Amino acid sequence: MSDCLFCRIIRKEIPASIVYEDDRLLAFNDINPQAPLHALVIPKRHIDSLNALTAEDDGLVGEMIRRAAAIARDKGFGDRGFRSVFNTNAEAGQTVFHIHLHLLAGRGFTWPPG
Ligand code: 5GP
Ligand code: ZN
Repeated sequence: MSDCLFCRIIRKEIPASIVYEDDRLLAFNDINPQAPLHALVIPKRHIDSLNALTAEDDGLVGEMIRRAAAIARDKGFGDRGFRSVFNTNAEAGQTVFHIHLHLLAGRGFTWPPG
């Protein structure tokens, strides 16, 4: 998936404001933030969407979710609250087809979402 935008960010071909990195995950600030904290947590291995997950990915997805919570906690939003969202395909608003967990915090969020 050499032309995937987020794979290019992983390879540092496109700059990003990185908030966390290890050998399996990268987290960086969204270029168009919708809240004071808006980061994207992604796996370094390309996966198109939640529809492409297999049981072998369970551990990786668990790491993504726990990392989002850790980033929220580190930035002081653990108690206040944060929202974590996967958009999948067109009606949900997915625009980048490399799985990403949105982490949003720092303002009140409505429910249901728009
Ligand atoms: P989606 O709409 O697929 O759920 O989310 C894609 C997100 O990626 C959007 O919130 C969008 O602002 C963000 N995004 C798109 N291109 C870039 C980019 O080049 N850099 C960064 N940091 N975020 C991007
Ligand atoms: Zn990719």
